[in-house]
Amino acid sequence: MKMDLANKIRSSIFGAILGDAMGVPIEYTSRHENSLCSVKNLLGYGRFDHPVGTWSDDSSIILCTTESLCSGYNLNHLAETYCKWLFEGYWTALGYVFDAGLTTCLALDRLHSEGSVSCCGCDSEDDNGNGSLMRMLPAALFFHNNNFDDFMEKIHDISSLTHSHPRTIIGCGLYSLLVLELITNNDKEEALRSAVSKTLEYYNRFDQYKNELCHYMRIFSLELLSLNENEIHSSGYIVETLEAAIWCFIKNDSTYQILHSATNLGLETDTTGTVAGGLAGMVYNLDDVPQEIIQSLARKREIENLIRKFSDIVISNT
Ligand SMILES: [Mg+2]
Repeated sequence: MKMDLANKIRSSIFGAILGDAMGVPIEYTSRHENSLCSVKNLLGYGRFDHPVGTWSDDSSIILCTTESLCSGYNLNHLAETYCKWLFEGYWTALGYVFDAGLTTCLALDRLHSEGSVSCCGCDSEDDNGNGSLMRMLPAALFFHNNNFDDFMEKIHDISSLTHSHPRTIIGCGLYSLLVLELITNNDKEEALRSAVSKTLEYYNRFDQYKNELCHYMRIFSLELLSLNENEIHSSGYIVETLEAAIWCFIKNDSTYQILHSATNLGLETDTTGTVAGGLAGMVYNLDDVPQEIIQSLARKREIENLIRKFSDIVISNT
């Protein structure tokens, strides 16, 4: 199945939001609980007691990134839009923020009070959560036509607004390169191999990244592809979220199967669903996702309009 870029943009951003919305009610459940009662549909309530179709910070920050990039790349504007989300509930499902990560909150609070994008990102070892990984999808799509080094620098700068530890930078780079490969290649394993090779070649050029590459060895060695589900961890640690998302993406053959697989891993269900759903939509369309699930997404019409506008801009820049 071949999809044009407009379809890939729509399916991937919707895929990410669907993964978030499917994961929200069962966030931090265990895999064992989910195996007893596998989540087959978009549920409501659960952990945050919100109605069906409610998405969380993952989608908010994707939508903020998507909207900001529609008016061109401007780090200050991106930062202002993220602050508007956190402090005013902008691009939220219900008009208020829930489920925001600690590193993101600390960095945006610093950004808000200091007004400078140059040193707001948190860079300690404890700041390697998945908070910036979740928003890389629209950035990778928007910059896909840039030359390689510019592409990588922009991805890094967007992550560094909140998360600037080298390990997180590598994770965002790898994910974005995989999205980039999937624009022109629907062979998932081939795209992964190519993204891995480009990631290693690029980050080995810089001393600050070299020592961090070992943390992604299960992906770089492609050992990940032969692991069983019980060897996949689905925590909020960027390495484990990325491993879980890529594993679900490779092991399943439709958007809805990938979303099921990712959310039923338990723990960080919303972000694993978001990251995996973005990859799923790059290869598969949304045809096997029941319409009632897509229709039940909060602010579905506004999301649809934003994606259409973003897609037109990305394609006109191509
Ligand atoms: Mg969330």
